[in-house]
Order: sequence, then structure tokens, then C-alpha cells
Amino acid sequence: MKKRIIFVLLCIFITLTVISSYSLWYGDSLNNRFSVGDRLLVAGITVFLFIYYIKLDKKPQYAHATINTEKKEKEQNGNEFFTKPKITFEDVAGLEEVKEELVEVIDFIKKSEKYIKMGAKIPKGILFHGPPGTGKTLLASAVAGETKSAFFSASGSEFVEKYVGVGAKRIRTLFEKAKKEAPSVIFIDEIDAIGAKRHIDSNNEKDQTLNQLLVELDGFNTDQTVVVIAATNRMDLLDEALLRPGRFDRHMYIGNPNVKAREEILRVHTKNKPLSPDVDIPTLAKKTHGMSGAHLSNIANEAAIIAVRQDETIITPDHFDQAIERVIAGLQVKNPTILQREKEIVAYHEAGHALIGKILSTDMVQKVSIIPRGQALGYVLHMPQDDRYILTKQELCQKIMVMLGGRAAEELIYGHLSTGAKDDLKKVTDLAVQMVCEYGMSDLGFMFQEPSLTRGLSHQINKEMNKIIDECYELTLNYLKTYQKDLVKVTNALLEKETLNADELAELLGDFKIEEDELKAV
Ligand code: ADP
Ligand code: ZN
Repeated sequence: MKKRIIFVLLCIFITLTVISSYSLWYGDSLNNRFSVGDRLLVAGITVFLFIYYIKLDKKPQYAHATINTEKKEKEQNGNEFFTKPKITFEDVAGLEEVKEELVEVIDFIKKSEKYIKMGAKIPKGILFHGPPGTGKTLLASAVAGETKSAFFSASGSEFVEKYVGVGAKRIRTLFEKAKKEAPSVIFIDEIDAIGAKRHIDSNNEKDQTLNQLLVELDGFNTDQTVVVIAATNRMDLLDEALLRPGRFDRHMYIGNPNVKAREEILRVHTKNKPLSPDVDIPTLAKKTHGMSGAHLSNIANEAAIIAVRQDETIITPDHFDQAIERVIAGLQVKNPTILQREKEIVAYHEAGHALIGKILSTDMVQKVSIIPRGQALGYVLHMPQDDRYILTKQELCQKIMVMLGGRAAEELIYGHLSTGAKDDLKKVTDLAVQMVCEYGMSDLGFMFQEPSLTRGLSHQINKEMNKIIDECYELTLNYLKTYQKDLVKVTNALLEKETLNADELAELLGDFKIEEDELKAV
């Protein structure tokens, strides 16, 4: 603000100086109005404003930057800069293969002299990659905990600065401090914020920060036991220089837990909670397919909170069910203002999903509801029977059919298309793209279509996707026509009770037996 005012004043005075000196040199009518004193004064003020403006432009920014870093450093030089975690591998459930690999690193930190005597090199940089919430931070702090090392934790985005050199300086300070406190573990989360591939046009500040990080990684002496662990969920973005031998050369993938690991994670997070004896952890693990460790710890916590809210002293399976729903589908909307007619459309839509799921007996339908949650007006919770890693074309088509069940039901009953199927259609499209371009499941052939090469093919790809989706939709509509009575039954029950669980649904519908031949038509 101040800068702007000075700038405007400066402009005015420059104009005045020009006018007054013009009249001095060319001696026109203005000459009479400006005395020599006036002219000197105007010129003097202009020069003063100019100098002041230049200083204002530079000094405060540098001052700002230094103050900022000094403050940070002061904070960081205190004990907040590092911690001595008490977490051990026992607190990290599952991830056995990763822990096994890390044992070697731990041994190195604990008995570094032994390795140094042998002339062995330190395993310096470890890169954890994988989706968020899977325990990367937890593992890194467990490495520090197991070795009683100082744990320095930072996030890549903390080093992204507007001022050239500041990010690099922070990196330097971090490593200096870590070396001083050795043995230590440095953890840099979201390394992609500073370690992204460098381009010709890329930002100079980021390059400096990354270069500094590379220098630090290369510059360890063998007698300093500092291990650097970085984490990212976008390994594809990282600059190759970071991944070279001697830098982050040990890559460990940390993915979402499978059913066994989910069970263990749930055990860790319910260890200190009073559970009712009928809480069955293996069942909970099955119900939480696809969730990360962070989701699971969240569920355990939510369940406890719900139990407290209901004034109970132990956590029951019902509390867990509510917690799972909350974590999957978001908050239940209180007093939704939804029109009766719309409610009926939602009921048919959800009943369509549920019925097709039941008919094809894909994933078990755990619950159908038309109580709005988060952004969704209704939802169907599925419970996969097992963790699956390979799916056939037929199974993928069945998934598509379940997703299309909602729209097909609306079309069958009302003869209209509505906006309510947007999310379903997005998921269907994603799956169809994968089937055509990645899994070679269309007439385009068994080719993996590189995204960069598909431009010319986009018309054909669309055609193939449409073919798959149309066929699935046709079949879905036919099923719903055949079982229209059941569709109406489920819808009415939903309108009456708002939610139906697996048992209620089974009671309502009995058993479907679909002939294998009929399914093969897809
Ligand atoms: P990331 O760094 O991969 O994003 P975090 O390590 O921050 O994930 O995990 C978040 C939380 O989730 C942890 O604090 C922990 O409570 C829980 N968690 C995740 N994975 C596990 C696991 N394998 N065992 C126990 N708890 C876990
Ligand atoms: Zn839907």
C-alpha cells in the first residue's frame, strides 16, 4: 500500500520536474510560474522519492525473508526441531516385507562402527512411495524410535520459498543440525514438492533447493550416521537425479493394506479401547476393503467417540458400523430438505444398484440407504468377498453393470435421464477407458495404449468404450425389466425404512440364481 502511494507521488513529481525544466529550457509561458527555487525543490523531492522508492522495493522483502528464516531457525534450533520418537515397529501393523528391509538400515545405525570398519557404505536415502495414509510417516518415525535416533521431520512444501536461496538454506540447516545430533533420521514428506523433474523453464528457487538437497545427499561422510527417508505419492514426478545410486536408491512401495494387514492395524488401534466381546475384528477388516491405515485408525477413533456420545461404556459392532459409514460416505445430513418425488427417484436409483449387485452377486451388498450423506443423496455399501488382484473382462463388465443399475432403474420407471447418475457415469467411463486402453479388452486389440500416442485413436477408443458401456447398459436394463417386481419391492422398503442392511435385503429378495450362460452374454 505504502509502496503504491510513493509510486504515485513519484510519478507526479517526475511530471512536474519535466514540465518545469521544459519551461526553463524553452522559455514559454510557464516560465513565469516557476522560480528557480521551485524548480530545485521539485527536482529535490523527485530525487528523494526515487531513492526512497528503490529502497522500499528491495529492503523490506529481504528483511522479511531474513526475519522469516531466522524465526524458523530459532524455532528449529530449539527442541521442536527434532523429536525422539517412542514408536517402534510394533506400532506399525502389517508391512512385513518393508520392515524386514528396514531391519538392515536399523542395524547399520545401531552398529555403524562395524560397517565402517568393513568399508561398507551407508544406506543413505530411502524412498517410500505409495498412496497417502498408508503409514509412511509412521514407519520413518519407527526407524528413529527403534534406533533411539533424533527424528527430523519436514515436508517438501516447507522448502518452497518465494525468495531465491532461502529453501536451499533451510535444507543446509536441516542437514547440519541432523549431523550434529547423529545418529539421526531425516524424514522429508511430499518430496515431490521440491524434487519434481526440472525443466528448462522451471523455477530457479526450486532448482536451487533441489540442488542443495543433492549436494547434501552426496556430501555425507561415512562416519555420520544420518539416514534420509523421503516419501511421495507421485514417484513418476521425481527428477531422475534424486533416484540415482548413492541418493534415494532404495525404493519401497507402501500400498493400501490387504485384509490381513487391515486386521492387524485395527488391532493396534483398538488395543487400548474397551470393546464389547461381540466385536469381531476379522469381520471389520473385511468390511473395510480398500481403506488405508489412516482410515482405519480414524474408524477406531470415530467408533469410540460415537460410543461416548451414546453414553455407553463399551464399543459395540454397531458403533463400528456407524463409524465405517461415516468415514466412507461422510456426515449424515440432518433434516435434509429433499422433495418427496426426488426421494422416490433416489430410492429407485439406489434400489437399481443394489438389485443388480444382488442379481450378479458381485460384491455383497452390505447396506442400501437413501439418507443423504455428504454430497450423495443415497448410497450402496458393498463388501468385497476377498481382496482381488486379477479381474476378468466379465467381472469388470459386472462392475459396470452395478454402477449403471441406478440410471437404468430411473429410465425403466420414469423414462427420463437425470443428473443423479453423474458420479456413476464417471466411474463407468474410467473403468471402460482402462479396459480398452490398458487391459486390451476390446476390438482395438491387446495393446497398451500410451496416453501420448492415443490422440489419433481417440475416435476409435471412444467407439470401443461406448460399445462396452452400451452392451452393459442393455443387459442391465433387461435384468431390471425381468425383475421389475423386486425393484419396486426394494424401493418401497427403502421409502419406508430409508436404510436396508444385508439381512433385510436378503429377506426381502430371497435368492437369485442366474444361469452362467446368461452372464456370458456380456
Ligand atoms: P502417510 O505418511 O503414508 O500419509 P501416516 O504414516 O501419516 O501416513 O499415517 C497416518 C496414520 O494412520 C498413522 O498415524 C497411524 O495412526 C495410521 N496408520 C497408517 N498405517 C498404519 C499401520 N501400518 N499400522 C498402524 N497404524 C497405521
Ligand atoms: Zn448411483
